[in-house]
Amino acid sequence: MIDTNTTLYCIFGNPVRHSKSPFIHNAWFKEHQINSVYLAFEPKRIEQGINAIRQLDIQGASITIPFKTQIIPYLDKIDPDAAKIGAVNTIVNKNGKLSGYNTDSSAAVRSFKGIIELPDKTICILGAGGAAQAVAFGMVKKNGDVIIVNRNQTKAEQLAQSITGRAISYQDLEQIKSIDILINTTPVGMFPDIQDSPVPDDFLSPDMAVMDIVYNPLETQLLSRARKKGCLTIDGLSMFLHQAAEQFRIWTGITPDIESMHRTITNGDPH
Ligand code: NAP
Repeated sequence: MIDTNTTLYCIFGNPVRHSKSPFIHNAWFKEHQINSVYLAFEPKRIEQGINAIRQLDIQGASITIPFKTQIIPYLDKIDPDAAKIGAVNTIVNKNGKLSGYNTDSSAAVRSFKGIIELPDKTICILGAGGAAQAVAFGMVKKNGDVIIVNRNQTKAEQLAQSITGRAISYQDLEQIKSIDILINTTPVGMFPDIQDSPVPDDFLSPDMAVMDIVYNPLETQLLSRARKKGCLTIDGLSMFLHQAAEQFRIWTGITPDIESMHRTITNGDPH
């Protein structure tokens, strides 16, 4: 029950109304009988979010597009991995001191747990944006051999260089053989363009594991085609729930149940 002791957590993004984070975190607060509430805010500038955290004593915040990089100069402390990735998606407010973390990277890694071992695998990442940076960092940390493929080749090369991976162009995609894992971090296939797939069907082979970090729809065209080819598939909700669970653990010390939340969301959209 909300009362005068209820503490506030939130997400800052713009746009943010589509986010599933309030549903997820409020359900976990309720399940663990924590007197906190989680709301969504759409500031025009991230300075407004920072001021709100300090003035309203907001205990923690999720940070999403377009603020993950912009927020860094306003923090008192940044986790070393988040600093290397160059993006923060989680803030903790401890007595007015703001610390920043990145839970996307470990979430991408955890999504493969029990499905495929990452060390020494050849991992092709489509995209070189903010999400790709976090995913690539996580894969390299697990000794993956990472290949970045991006529309803008300069960005692909910059990301590849920063993680000591390789970059190739979409035109050369068919030349690369023996990919163990394919990860789509581009928005291709996301609602409303749900018929689009980021790679041609003949690039997919049955011995590949395919993860799409797009979670709207849950079964993207890429995942549907990969499943039909016999590939192991991992949906974007898995990574999304892992990043949220790690935020919840950072804020409360409790590791919430991801499986039951995945079932709840899969069986009926909360919105
Ligand atoms: P971003 O920083 O804007 O990067 C987007 C990347 O996708 C860029 O590399 C861009 O290539 C590429 N791209 C965009 N449209 C493309 C197209 N039509 N064809 C080929 N490549 C295209 O975005 P982001 O933050 O990385 O997010 C990307 C996606 O991941 C979004 O759909 C987001 O919702 C999702 N996401 C999911 C999770 C999760 O937990 N599941 C977490 C974060 C993000 P150029 O460089 O050539 O423009």
